Amino acid sequence: MANPLSYLHDQLEQWRQEGTYQRLRVLESESAAESRFDGKEVINLASNNYLGLTTHAKLRAAAIEATRQYGVGSGAVRTISGTMSLHMELEERIARFKNVEACVVFQSGFAANAGTVAAILGPEDHIISDELNHASIIDGCRLSKAKIHVFPHKDVEAADKILADLESVPGRKLLITDGVFSMDGDIGPLPGLVEAAERHGAIMMIDDAHSSGVLGRNGRGTVDHFNLHGRVQIQVGTLSKAIGVLGGYVCGSRELIEFLYHRARPFLFSTSHPPAVAASCIAAFDVLEQEPERIQRLWDNTKCFKAGLTAAGFNTGMSETPITPVIVGEAALAHRLSRELFQEGVLATGIGFPTVAKGKARVRTIVTATHTRQELDRALEAFRTVGKRLGLI
Ligand SMILES: *Cc1c(COP(=O)(O)O)cnc(C)c1O
Repeated sequence: MANPLSYLHDQLEQWRQEGTYQRLRVLESESAAESRFDGKEVINLASNNYLGLTTHAKLRAAAIEATRQYGVGSGAVRTISGTMSLHMELEERIARFKNVEACVVFQSGFAANAGTVAAILGPEDHIISDELNHASIIDGCRLSKAKIHVFPHKDVEAADKILADLESVPGRKLLITDGVFSMDGDIGPLPGLVEAAERHGAIMMIDDAHSSGVLGRNGRGTVDHFNLHGRVQIQVGTLSKAIGVLGGYVCGSRELIEFLYHRARPFLFSTSHPPAVAASCIAAFDVLEQEPERIQRLWDNTKCFKAGLTAAGFNTGMSETPITPVIVGEAALAHRLSRELFQEGVLATGIGFPTVAKGKARVRTIVTATHTRQELDRALEAFRTVGKRLGLI
């Protein structure tokens, strides 16, 4: 009998020919500034572990203690019997940290975005969305069946115009943007977007996955960075990046959170976090308050590394944060740059279509607070060597 999945083989073959087929790199140590992947020690510029919390002693201890006390699983979804006191404690902790009424935690940032947008809007509603918003926002928009209006990247005027044109059209309006864009590292024009949302009575939603723990006082995110407290109805964050563990959350009014308890499908139909995850996230928020020097080091390293790449002549796009892309154009070239950097002792991932637009393929770097200056210098040396070899600089 013919294999009914043979078209997958054909597609994989095509990707191999094009040089965009990707093998998974396997991490054989902790996720840290230097890690072992596929048997090789490399400087890790490919994690979202901004503050080095994946291996922080306080988070480890909290996870172990919670496991000892409460076991390894929650046993159910939140709405059946899987809401543990640790989950409630974490949500209250985040709400206080973000200066909002309430918070609900999801299994991931992806689930938080997709679950929230799909829950609060329906087919008669409208979403006004930046063209570079994260895939989880896009999927949430599609799931909601609302009409999607995409505006050019960071174009406040265009967003305002769409909202103005929709003024007399029935349905709710949601204006949605990433706080920091994950592939370019630039910051969303939040003050302008918030004003546009207010002018037209739209709901404002911000995805702060890459800004929580990075921007704002003690890493409170972009709403704090721009001092927009009380003017953004829905703030999403992740516990999987700077927080170092796993999960996503939504912050807003008590009523928003209670509504999501009743209607957000990942909340209703997927099991809640293990106790170790909730406990280590709580510990992470303590660390954010107690060790602000981590954020300072993150930004010192960011400035140093970005300056080094620019001085070498690489195209680093419009980055303003610890995410610095090295844009090369074709996906095959990005993957080649990544492979050769790995041989020189640096892990930085090649990223092409569909994660970024065709012709904008890149190697994305993310420095962390725990990289030493010497590690960054070695990484820059590797970039210069391979960049010259490939004719990029
Ligand atoms: C990573 C990311 C997410 C998803 O977060 P996870 O917790 O990894 O699921 C959502 N939005 C943006 C902008 C991200 O970069």
